[in-house]
Amino acid sequence: MEESCLTHDEITKSTRYIKCKVAFDQIVDGKMKECRRDYAGFEAQMIQHMIDHCLGKLV
Ligand SMILES: [Zn+2]
Repeated sequence: MEESCLTHDEITKSTRYIKCKVAFDQIVDGKMKECRRDYAGFEAQMIQHMIDHCLGKLV
């Protein structure tokens, strides 16, 4: 995939999965609840991009 990012001046190429599964905690009715969700396409690409940032990768 080609991606742009505020952390980089040029468009870069990255290898991404078409689909991803994400587990996360979410507050529902004032209580923390464990959630899992499947994502595909652009959403999956963006999630992988942001997870890379959380792991210290800048594309
Ligand atoms: Zn970015």
